[in-house]
Amino acid sequence: MINHTIQQMIKPLFFLLVTLQLLAQKKMKPELTELWEPVPEVIQPGEANNPSSDAIVLFDGTDLSKWINSSTGQPADWIINPDGSMTVKRDGGIETIEEFGSVQLHIEWKTPMEINGKGQGRGNSGVYFQKSYEIQVLDSYNNVTYSNGQAASVYKQSIPLVNASKPPGEWQTYDIIFNEPKYDKKGHRLKKGSFTVFHNGVLVQNNVEIQGTTEYRGYPKLRDIKTPKRLYLQDHGNPVSFRNIWLRKL
Ligand code: MG
Repeated sequence: MINHTIQQMIKPLFFLLVTLQLLAQKKMKPELTELWEPVPEVIQPGEANNPSSDAIVLFDGTDLSKWINSSTGQPADWIINPDGSMTVKRDGGIETIEEFGSVQLHIEWKTPMEINGKGQGRGNSGVYFQKSYEIQVLDSYNNVTYSNGQAASVYKQSIPLVNASKPPGEWQTYDIIFNEPKYDKKGHRLKKGSFTVFHNGVLVQNNVEIQGTTEYRGYPKLRDIKTPKRLYLQDHGNPVSFRNIWLRKL
């Protein structure tokens, strides 16, 4: 009863405060909420899927000078094709020489026109960030496998929202925003990372939290902070092709 009486007394006061606030806001100059600094850097956006002027081009179709063979540490020697693409050679994955933190990555890929194998054995490769977190590359066009292992999955961690796959033999695009997990110098994780992925222009991973490293068996683990933060492309035994690879540091 007392509570009710207090409520009745406070109500007009509350409305008065709201009205005063609205009046005060009306008197505010619009300039008060304008921010003029910092001024965003002027860059040249790329036409279609081409890199913007501030992007780092990792593969433009001419050579693999930015890549090494992950198994041997020697210069990467995947097959360079006349059409400006490269194809997995059966001698191990390749990784960038440069290391990267959080990035926006564009990459195009194509699984073989001739269908061989099924499930995880058909057109399998993968884009690994910091050699630790895989966005799956797979022929997922009429090819059933576990959902958290199909194309555009965060492998064994997150199922894509939809299957936006094109048929084998057609070029497909990934545009990926990777926010790196934060670790301290002792290897304790301070903050989990995240993935946002567009597959052929369609949002398929929407700010998904990264649980830990990609593991084929068992659960995600903490990342070994000694692992170089290189971008890595997987050799899973299938002749998958890639082209037009570029990224922007975030
Ligand atoms: Mg894979």
